[in-house]
Amino acid sequence: MRARLQRSGSAIRPFAPGVSVSRPCLTGVKVWNTLSMDAVSSQGGGAASGGLLLKKRGFTLIELLVVIAIIAILAAILFPVFSRARMRANTVRCISNLKQLGLAFQMYRDDNAGRMPGVGTEHDVNIPNWCGEIQRWIYPERGSLWPYVKSTGVYVCPQDKRKEALHSSVAPPPGKTRRDWALSYAMNVDLSYAKAEALAMRTPSRMLLLIHEERERMNDGIFYPTWQDIPSKIHYDGTTIVYLDGNAKWKSYDDLKRECDENYWRKDPPL
Ligand SMILES: [Zn+2]
Repeated sequence: MRARLQRSGSAIRPFAPGVSVSRPCLTGVKVWNTLSMDAVSSQGGGAASGGLLLKKRGFTLIELLVVIAIIAILAAILFPVFSRARMRANTVRCISNLKQLGLAFQMYRDDNAGRMPGVGTEHDVNIPNWCGEIQRWIYPERGSLWPYVKSTGVYVCPQDKRKEALHSSVAPPPGKTRRDWALSYAMNVDLSYAKAEALAMRTPSRMLLLIHEERERMNDGIFYPTWQDIPSKIHYDGTTIVYLDGNAKWKSYDDLKRECDENYWRKDPPL
């Protein structure tokens, strides 16, 4: 028996601490390696052993809850920041829209002996008006300013997109909904078709030309400067306007009301 064990090699020989293995066979190496890994693990060292432990262990419920809580806190902090940044960008784009439309009014006047374009009239839909209002729907490409501003996007504030214009009394055209109302701005009715001589009587820097009207109240692109029509509050409790001199800006609601009450927006300038 002893002779047979020796012939078949030390693979069969049982391992015991302190026993010297001078020529370990494959089985011996495997046993030795396993013991070595256990030894390293028990000492807490070695990248290889750590990797083995993580794969087996995974996340505990507490760790998962901590991660979820951290993500929720970050979202609560960052979402308002992103929202404010988007609103600020939309306000800038809205003012840019009004600036472009104000320039378009000026170019129209240059081409028409100083006369202003007008607002829509229900009496004769064939008379062009500034924004292409026809039977209580807006077609900017049919408006008086279209040759100077050939972009429908300029007529709508980005903050208003996809918001319904509820005040129009007529049904939208086929294929359209009230969300497709293509206008955010309303023209001061007191400037409608005004001639150059009449305009010379005003103070251009204080005379309202266009204002961002409340979306739900939009129905015709006309603004009556008596607070009968309501300015939008969508930009930080204020709105955007452009004056007759082409100056476009944001104004607080209180400032707007004061200017309106002081009649700077009316045909007859204040005394
Ligand atoms: Zn706007």
